[in-house]
Amino acid sequence: MPSNTKITKNFTTNEMKCPCCDECEMDEQFMANLQRIREQCGFGFKINSAYRCAEYNAKVSSNTKGQHATGQAVDVSMKDRYKRYELLMKAIFSEYFKDIAISKTFIHLGRGNVKNGVGVY
Ligand SMILES: [Zn+2]
Repeated sequence: MPSNTKITKNFTTNEMKCPCCDECEMDEQFMANLQRIREQCGFGFKINSAYRCAEYNAKVSSNTKGQHATGQAVDVSMKDRYKRYELLMKAIFSEYFKDIAISKTFIHLGRGNVKNGVGVY
């Protein structure tokens, strides 16, 4: 089992790895952008889900093209309306996160690939 290592200043492989196999193939550019908006927000991001191997992704998601499997998506736990605003604003203004989705308890930040969009769960 690989040991916990820092990916960026505020994020480690333990937070980002696949829960079924500990694989952690997060995209480098994605992580740099996530780190940037983390610093702009100034508060901690609790990561619910990040990297998923193909097998695990198939188990938990019907989206086979989901970006968790390419290391280009994270679900950030988010229940506070004021922090939600900050996170959304920074994510949208970054112009990097093109696929965003909002649930009552978390925000999905994905790189996206076709058109920019904001979904709801
Ligand atoms: Zn896995």
